[in-house]
Amino acid sequence: VRRGGPDVSRRLLVVGSGMAATRLVEQVVARRAGWEITVLGDEPHPPYNRILLSAVLEGTHDPVALTLRTPGWYAEHRVDLRLGVRVVELDRDRREAVLDDGTTLGYDALVLATGSIPTLPPIRGLVRVDGRLHPKVHAFRSLDDCTRLREAVPQARSAVVVGGGLLGLQVARALSVRGVATEVVEGGDHLLRSQVGPEAGAIIARDLQRLGTTVYTGARAVRLTDDGLRLDNGYTLETDLVVLTAGGRPSTALARRAGLEVRRGVVVDDQLRTSDPLIHAIGDCAQHGLQVTGFVPPAWEQAGLLARLLAGEEVAYTGSRNVARLRATDLDVAVLGDPERTEGDVVAVSNPVVGSHRKLVVRGGVIVAASLVGDLSRIGLITQHYDRRTVLSVSEPGALLMGDPPSRPAQLPDSAEVCACAGVSAGLVRACSSLEQVRDTTRATTGCGGCAPAVRQLLAQRPSLGTTLEGIAP
Ligand SMILES: Cc1cc2nc3c(=O)[nH]c(=O)nc-3n(C[C@H](O)[C@H](O)[C@H](O)COP(=O)(O)OP(=O)(O)OC[C@H]3O[C@@H](n4cnc5c(N)ncnc54)[C@H](O)[C@@H]3O)c2cc1C
Repeated sequence: VRRGGPDVSRRLLVVGSGMAATRLVEQVVARRAGWEITVLGDEPHPPYNRILLSAVLEGTHDPVALTLRTPGWYAEHRVDLRLGVRVVELDRDRREAVLDDGTTLGYDALVLATGSIPTLPPIRGLVRVDGRLHPKVHAFRSLDDCTRLREAVPQARSAVVVGGGLLGLQVARALSVRGVATEVVEGGDHLLRSQVGPEAGAIIARDLQRLGTTVYTGARAVRLTDDGLRLDNGYTLETDLVVLTAGGRPSTALARRAGLEVRRGVVVDDQLRTSDPLIHAIGDCAQHGLQVTGFVPPAWEQAGLLARLLAGEEVAYTGSRNVARLRATDLDVAVLGDPERTEGDVVAVSNPVVGSHRKLVVRGGVIVAASLVGDLSRIGLITQHYDRRTVLSVSEPGALLMGDPPSRPAQLPDSAEVCACAGVSAGLVRACSSLEQVRDTTRATTGCGGCAPAVRQLLAQRPSLGTTLEGIAP
């Protein structure tokens, strides 16, 4: 990438207007590095918070509340936001992107932030002869998917959610809360199996069952017929709706057509450059080393780093730490590292009665992975030890999980991370004088929203704030 001083205007094209793209644009704008930015998004809506789609399905959030940045914000910052347009080709020799309406746009640097696309599980009958999905079948990735499903809910008595991962749980909860008799079909032996172990999976299943949801694990849906959805164990589930939530894969078709190196995702180096140095990739579509991510914290970390690179800073991306905060009403899950596959001593506390499971994997006194389900009151301190690789005494891991929460946010040191999505420390929150300032300058609370209680408490230390704190969602 040709980098110059702020007086040189260069054209930056961002393909995709999702969560990574939005964060990138915010950060490039903040650095005033002389880029003339155009954002091209194929969805018709202003950039929105995808994490909260299940809250819209559930009815607790209005779709408008998901907007990350309004068209007015883009106009104010002289960013050309074009929605409902799809980039169909990249002409790398001419340095042009070709849009689906036939127009071409030149670039000096281009960023692929095309996200991921849902995978279609091998179930016969999902797709009709005309190539369209069976009318009972729904995907759940975009606001339009969510609207279509929301419109189907009042006529539906029953639903089957295919896939017991993060997305499946969010959708199943929302449908159950809306009064639809919901069944979840998961091929693995427990729910959320990519993130947590069987004990935590069982607690999550109990929690869903309390809402009236039925959970089938170790069963695969094989065929959709007029009678219902047939499973490989012989059962047929009668259903009005089938929601596909069985995973996604990086959206790489555009990069592949342009001849860029693609493995699982679009391959990037330590400068987040693809095999063409003028083209970068970030977020769910990118692959760095062996890592393909799929969560907001790494997408936002990459976006922040790329903004610094585009401003001429000498920084290198070395991969993202594996941190996930999963969001669904009354279901809090946080995962640090890979607790199911990392070797070490396991210290765990399970309380199925209240629906919580906390697990640390400890090696040489250091927390090398963790998962928390149900009760995240300890996540701040655990993340801090995990990040700093603090060597704990033999009694500390157990003490961290037992008894009263060891640290209220108000007592966290300034360096402790409060918002995993935007990587915001307690000190940065404390430096803000209002909630609006926290949201606007740090973007804490605008991702999964899991940090909202901690931010609320940190701000509450400032006596003048009082009543404005109620507005923090969710
Ligand atoms: C329902 C749901 C719930 C989730 N919950 C969580 C959660 O609790 N925690 C968490 O960390 N993560 C969660 N995720 C994952 C998170 O949303 C993604 O990691 C994040 O959105 C990645 O950002 P991105 O910009 O890479 O992709 P996206 O946000 O998907 O944006 C990509 C955009 O690019 C557009 N696009 C693609 N190709 C083109 C093209 N050729 N031309 C123009 N536009 C194009 C797409 O339509 C899309 O709008 C969830 C995802 C979903 C779908």
